[in-house]
Amino acid sequence: MIRISAGTAACMKLKKIKTDVHPTTAYLLLGEGCVMNCSFCPQSRTSSGGASRLGRVTWPSFTREDLKEGLKEAEGNNIKRVCLQGVRQGDKQESLLRTIKEIKNNSSLPLCISAWIKKPQEAEELFAAGADRLSIALDVVNPDAYKDIKGGSYKERLQLLLNCARRWPGKISTHIIIGVGETEEETVAIFDKLIKENVTIALFAFTPIKGTPLGSSAPPKIERYRRMQAALYLLKNKVIDYAAMNFKKGVLTGYGVPISDLREYLKGGSAFLTSGCPDCNRPFYNESPGSVLYNYPRPLTLEEEEAAVDCVLAGLEEGGNEVAGNLAFNS
Ligand code: SF4
Repeated sequence: MIRISAGTAACMKLKKIKTDVHPTTAYLLLGEGCVMNCSFCPQSRTSSGGASRLGRVTWPSFTREDLKEGLKEAEGNNIKRVCLQGVRQGDKQESLLRTIKEIKNNSSLPLCISAWIKKPQEAEELFAAGADRLSIALDVVNPDAYKDIKGGSYKERLQLLLNCARRWPGKISTHIIIGVGETEEETVAIFDKLIKENVTIALFAFTPIKGTPLGSSAPPKIERYRRMQAALYLLKNKVIDYAAMNFKKGVLTGYGVPISDLREYLKGGSAFLTSGCPDCNRPFYNESPGSVLYNYPRPLTLEEEEAAVDCVLAGLEEGGNEVAGNLAFNS
């Protein structure tokens, strides 16, 4: 049995649902009932959020035969990558390794794995089995919030991520969630560090899911999310320099370039597209269709582009007035 995101299943012709935007990556989920206990995740040990949820997306289950057929369909249906999320279920990752081999035997698409590994040796096994990329999620970038929300040591997790990034240059990604107790200043500092280490960053907006300990906390304000998207995009493209950026009480107040130039730098809207591995668009992972999109899974309209840039600029004018970190902890 394997879970396939509802949008992916539609692209694979395994399920009939109407989708506003097609995924460009096939999202698969292996295992359920994680041994980890992340407070935002419906798959965590103590969550009652439902095994068929991850983020706000539903993941119906299918047989391995369905998956094989679906992978064939996917290639002809604008899917350019496969992403397999492995839920941690014990000390061994045998079923993950078996599934990687199965996917590679049935598809020529590049495959990335998002898994909670403990040591580089486990990354080695995943690459040897056929993974093209590996995501080691930091999720929470404030060390105290990391301990509260995910458990364990942020420092050790970051070190593992950096060790893998140095050993497999250009093949390592991470996930960072905005709105889980971090300041903008520490978020941008880690962007800068990871970009210099050649780590690909995927930004997520904290999404409260019913049945999880953080189910009634608020998602991040859109202005704050847009500031972080713009910072990531401009740093990645070497348009700005972290050392020249300004912060006040942890809030980003200046990118170190004239505000009047920013509109030009952000033209086209690429800063506000879903970030992460190539061709990963994660449609509606953080938001419902029809609401403001934190991550655009498709090109922005001119109107959307202008609104997004206005959010970045408005944040700067108001910088310093907003309280950094917006999460109301439930525990
Ligand atoms: S960035 Fe996208 S494709 Fe890469 S591991 Fe994360 S969800 Fe998967």
